[in-house]
Amino acid sequence: MSRLLCLLVVLGCSFAFGQPALVVNGRDVPGNTTGLVSGASYAPAAPLAANLGATLAVDLQQRLVVLDAGGRLLQIDIADSAAAAAASDAAIRLNGRPLGGTAAVISGGDVFLPVKPVAEALGASVTYLQSQGTVLVVQPRARLTALRRATSPERLEIAVSAPVRFSTFYNEPVNSLQIRFERTDVELRLDPVEGERFVLASALTGGGGTEVRIQLEDEVDYEIYQLPDGRGFRLVVAFAAPGQNALVSDLNVVIDPGHGGSDLGTVVPEFGSESTLALGFADRLAVALRQRGLAARLTRDSDFSLDVERRSAAGIGADLFVSVHAADLPSGDFNAYYLDDADDVASLEMAIRNNAAQAAATTTDRLRRELLLGLVPDLDRGRLLVDGLSGRLFTLGSFRANVVAGAPLQVLGGAAGRGIMLEFAASDLVGDQLAQVLAQAIAELLEEEAVLGRR
Ligand SMILES: [Zn+2]
Repeated sequence: MSRLLCLLVVLGCSFAFGQPALVVNGRDVPGNTTGLVSGASYAPAAPLAANLGATLAVDLQQRLVVLDAGGRLLQIDIADSAAAAAASDAAIRLNGRPLGGTAAVISGGDVFLPVKPVAEALGASVTYLQSQGTVLVVQPRARLTALRRATSPERLEIAVSAPVRFSTFYNEPVNSLQIRFERTDVELRLDPVEGERFVLASALTGGGGTEVRIQLEDEVDYEIYQLPDGRGFRLVVAFAAPGQNALVSDLNVVIDPGHGGSDLGTVVPEFGSESTLALGFADRLAVALRQRGLAARLTRDSDFSLDVERRSAAGIGADLFVSVHAADLPSGDFNAYYLDDADDVASLEMAIRNNAAQAAATTTDRLRRELLLGLVPDLDRGRLLVDGLSGRLFTLGSFRANVVAGAPLQVLGGAAGRGIMLEFAASDLVGDQLAQVLAQAIAELLEEEAVLGRR
């Protein structure tokens, strides 16, 4: 009898609040509600992100939430109302690529995120335990699987099997860099590593996490960055003498300013023709790349027309070929295309338009046939490059990927999987910020490729 009473009290409570509890990786996350968007759990963004091991940025002006976990960027649009969120269905993007899912909602001054799509995008499994009225979110614990030194430039690579939160701390009195990974075990006994710019790096487990301690040599600078790697990521610590750039090397980038000569491209009344916008921007991008130690050259360095075969041929052997165009986009947005068959009709039409502007109308069909027959090498790299670039353009400069897609663009044929086409707003092409941000994004991206051995 008393047991039944207890049960009734418990049921009564749960009905009185009417909201399922949310438990993420064993920790209660308060504030979960199905009252904003009927039938879907929404939780306050800050504790949800923290418990998923992600850092959170909310940009109310752009109406955007960004979670950064293990080098992956999850972007979630913020809806104007709960009703608008309920009606949304493609509000979440991973590295600029649509994942579906409903939008975030602002309620009582807090941003609420849809639990299931966000957690799943970050590698968690989501279960609703009806009997307990609880939404259970579990991410696999991560393992630190490798600690190794690489050279030219010298760096330490720490491989982690799943996205987890980490923090870095420079302990000045002892000149030691300490990186703590939460919810991470060491899979194997990892031997300490010796280096030239660091004395010793070693991993120690304790308190539910793992700490990597790097004893630095005197007068050494370092940069830390994350690379997505399989389901997990690599944290890379690059070392350099003070004043030296810890990143990059002998990589060569070919920049292709779109259009030129009699082919003006789009003419934007306020800013002039696309051909001159792209050329001016390409010049500044080349300078910014050279400042970062990369070799950069242009397919055309003044205002002349250039056929697509010669542009495409210039991409052969490049580490990266970037064709730059202007498009009718709001400032801060961009489109990014890699060579592939088209993902959708809009990308195909864009490719046909671009190809036909410079070559015979049959080009697109022939190129598509080659793509579909697998005659173009290295294709999956283009997608990775564009993903990596989109994420960095956002992190470094808040530039948002509008379209990220494959397209059968003839201009990318020579570079194949190392070629991309970027379209920016005219106002961004003339501004100061974009060339610097894009150059930094490219430098980091090519460094990542080198580290991951994709070159
Ligand atoms: Zn164009």
